[in-house]
Amino acid sequence: MEMDEIKYDIFKDGALVNGVSIKKILPCIATKGRIRLTMQLDSKLEGDVIPILASKYSPGKISLIPRKNILTLSDFDRVITFYPDGKVTMNNTRDQEEAIEIISGIMEKINESYLESKDGGPVGEDLSQKLSKIGPLAIYNCLPKTNCEECGEVTCLAFAMKLLSGESALEQCTPLSESKNNGCVNSLRDLLGEQLMKTLGWNG
Ligand code: SF4
Repeated sequence: MEMDEIKYDIFKDGALVNGVSIKKILPCIATKGRIRLTMQLDSKLEGDVIPILASKYSPGKISLIPRKNILTLSDFDRVITFYPDGKVTMNNTRDQEEAIEIISGIMEKINESYLESKDGGPVGEDLSQKLSKIGPLAIYNCLPKTNCEECGEVTCLAFAMKLLSGESALEQCTPLSESKNNGCVNSLRDLLGEQLMKTLGWNG
């Protein structure tokens, strides 16, 4: 629908983004009765901000195009796409208020990502490469592979799949805390890196 741009001031002193404008609202193609929106952040998402933001979500929820620096996040029961010029699209949304509530939470993570990129945080190219290698089998190969069920899953592979989709956390695999499985933890660290280990629920 045609509309005047609506600007929302979310933060006063965010490190990178403070406000967001809703530029366009259209009916959602995926779900009848819902809307899809085009929004514009008040700052570009340049440098390593997008890959660092990607690493704050479970790998199963994201799709990153490194060459174009475009991130698609499948979370909150919808698809949200971030572009380096600060454009954001979101589908399957109830109304503008819901869109602003969700984007505000993500803007906090964007500001954290920006600060981390300035602090010499994980380099975007490294993160993009890591993310491209992470799948259920890669995770499974780093687990104890005993199918002991202590995590609540019948097999280690089932646990790996739930981990990637964000439904399980690494710490639920309690055998990983045993010293005999230090090699597994090291392999996971090599595969995922510190940020993704944290994102996937490892505090050890
Ligand atoms: S607790 Fe760990 S080792 Fe046991 S089944 Fe789950 S993932 Fe496998």
